[in-house]
Amino acid sequence: MQLAARVNRIAISPTSAVLAAAEKLRAQGADLADFGPGEPDFPTPEHIQRAAIRALEQGKTKYTPTPGIGALREAICKWHAAQFGSSYAVPECVVTVGGKHALFNAFCSLLEKGDEVLIPAPYWVSYPEQILYTGATVVPVKTEESDGFRLRAEQVSRAITPRTKLLIVNSPNNPSGAVVPSDEFVKIYEACRAKNIWVVTDECYSHFVYGDEKPWSLASVSGSKPNIIVIGSLSKTFAMTGWRIGYALAPEPVISAMIKVQSQSTSNPTSIAQYAALEALTGPMDTVGVMLAEYLRRRDRIVAGLRAIPGVTCVEPGGAFYVFPNFSAHLGNGIADSTALCKQLLERQHLVSVPGDAFGTPGHIRISYATSIDRIEEGLRRLEKFCSMAEAAR
Ligand code: PLP
Repeated sequence: MQLAARVNRIAISPTSAVLAAAEKLRAQGADLADFGPGEPDFPTPEHIQRAAIRALEQGKTKYTPTPGIGALREAICKWHAAQFGSSYAVPECVVTVGGKHALFNAFCSLLEKGDEVLIPAPYWVSYPEQILYTGATVVPVKTEESDGFRLRAEQVSRAITPRTKLLIVNSPNNPSGAVVPSDEFVKIYEACRAKNIWVVTDECYSHFVYGDEKPWSLASVSGSKPNIIVIGSLSKTFAMTGWRIGYALAPEPVISAMIKVQSQSTSNPTSIAQYAALEALTGPMDTVGVMLAEYLRRRDRIVAGLRAIPGVTCVEPGGAFYVFPNFSAHLGNGIADSTALCKQLLERQHLVSVPGDAFGTPGHIRISYATSIDRIEEGLRRLEKFCSMAEAAR
């Protein structure tokens, strides 16, 4: 069958492929140590659920305006201003079907063949595929494990060419958990602004930062608005992955273009989910702190456990809920790469993880600690067992 070239340019999400294989095993009754999920293991807070039920009971089940209900767009602008000190108005905001959709519509609005897009590696799996779909070219910018995978302005400057159109920064990062310090982020932004390059800042994990770091947005930098596109999501911050609500904040012409794309594809995000999102952004946020404290406890346990496995190195993540340990020392001897490693971990230990190859960083695996401490202990036991058996077989 002759499919369109743009579809042949992209691949199905490798994280979904891993999760599908794990689901098959689970259906057969396997007891999985599941380090796969890219979503909080906490339920959506009750007051948010109730708002959705109220919306349903009040018959708010019809089309809404394509860019979202006015009250939600306003709430997003106000919430972002209160959390980060930004200053967006409703025409500079669009509500989307998750952050992924916001990214897709932004790329469709800005990119075309010949444009180069800088993507710091390790990167979230959807960035390169979405870029390739538009016909633009992906330019990975390698960050260093020895530097905690933090993106540096000089790495960005070195990768810029006359064709560079856009840089994506994802801090805290999926999969590494790295947080770009705000002073470095400003330097990165200045390097881009000097060359008229867009900075897309993916703030999906903004509220999950540890230690001295505080939630921070590039949009708080005065004068940055003309050069940046903020991508946000309620998925992780409010444990609302299934509701599919995200947003973009950007100069009005970009938002208008995104709304045009949206008006001819998905139309509005689900009406009921929008009312739930309105409650999330205007109601209490104490559940965010509860999740953060628990993630911190788990991070400390899992980093210590991974570092105790001979041959494994593990950067301490500054945010999000992933660790990205280096298993290179355990490759070879029948395990060609991290994809093969994850496959064997699943088959032999029923342990679910995602290969670093998918994130542009071979030799590593992504482990999500959005799971209970008990399951983390069990997973660590299985990892240790696998590594010592593999070592003995050498
Ligand atoms: N950006 C990053 C870095 C992510 O990890 C994800 C989801 O895993 C998203 C964006 C999109 O999230 P959603 O579409 O659920 O808002």
